[in-house]
Amino acid sequence: MPASRSRIVAEVDFEKNGRQQGFLRLFHSVHSSAYGFIPIPIVVLKNGDGPTALLVSGNHGDEYEGQVALCNLAKSLDPARIQGRVIILPAANFPAAMAGRRTSPIDEGNLNRLFPGDPDGTVTEQIAYYIEHELVPMADLLCDLHSGGSSLMYVPSALFGGWQRDGSTAAGVAALKAFASPIAYVAEANQGGNRTLSGGAARQGVIALGTEAGGSGHVTRTALRIVERGVNNVLVHLGILPEGARIAPDGPTRFLEVGGPDYFVYAPENGLYEPLVELGDMVRAGQAAARMHFPETPWVSPVTAHFARDGFVLCKRMPGRTARGDCLFHLGTDIAL
Ligand code: ZN
Repeated sequence: MPASRSRIVAEVDFEKNGRQQGFLRLFHSVHSSAYGFIPIPIVVLKNGDGPTALLVSGNHGDEYEGQVALCNLAKSLDPARIQGRVIILPAANFPAAMAGRRTSPIDEGNLNRLFPGDPDGTVTEQIAYYIEHELVPMADLLCDLHSGGSSLMYVPSALFGGWQRDGSTAAGVAALKAFASPIAYVAEANQGGNRTLSGGAARQGVIALGTEAGGSGHVTRTALRIVERGVNNVLVHLGILPEGARIAPDGPTRFLEVGGPDYFVYAPENGLYEPLVELGDMVRAGQAAARMHFPETPWVSPVTAHFARDGFVLCKRMPGRTARGDCLFHLGTDIAL
């Protein structure tokens, strides 16, 4: 591990066998607490030598499926059953997770747009720095559990965002297949570029899987089941859990690719958004996606947004009030992996 420049102090010993739990202490001197720290919870389970899985949720604080899954796992996983190490960080952007917000109420930091972070930066930049430079290098694989958050809803999916079309990332694809979710997608680039945690994992040479497990600020049994099975099966894939612990999938995985700007549909006007398709629909290039209405002038004709390509509706905006530039839908296209 590189010499630490992070100011964050871990209460847990990452090299000790058994179960440990406590906090990452992020010292934050404010009016109400001069010498206090922000307590970011962490659980470490270790049994002898073996691979390390780093499991993260609450990177965005309003994405709850992963946080629930990792709360369950932190209590249910018996260190005596594993070989290697599992590091669980259920509320990565802790201030955001406590506020139920995508971004931190302390500094408005969007953790998943602030990697590689800054050890001397804002609270959120310090969290990013610690995760990328202290936690990720310990890991053989990262699972960063996201969903659509407050504004978007996904068909619950696993994803591998570090995919390369040239076949050089077969280990990541194999891990994605092990996740065994009904829908899984790959992407060569994402909205956050290399400022995301998966970008940080790429810099550290660590395979990064993720989820978009649902969203719209709530948790469904279906999404939770997909996430919990996937995380379990990735631990089996790594050899941390025994083969007998693998949970059978409901069926084969449908693999999709999410590509460039033509996969996305944005609101063309400020207004009230009327979706014309639903999650899981197959659509055609040129098909109407949504109408924007103007209740303040109901006699004005709505403005229609269209899909730019064929595809599967993977993601949908949930709130009705919408501003020009808001993402309404994004597509995936079937791919053989
Ligand atoms: Zn997210």
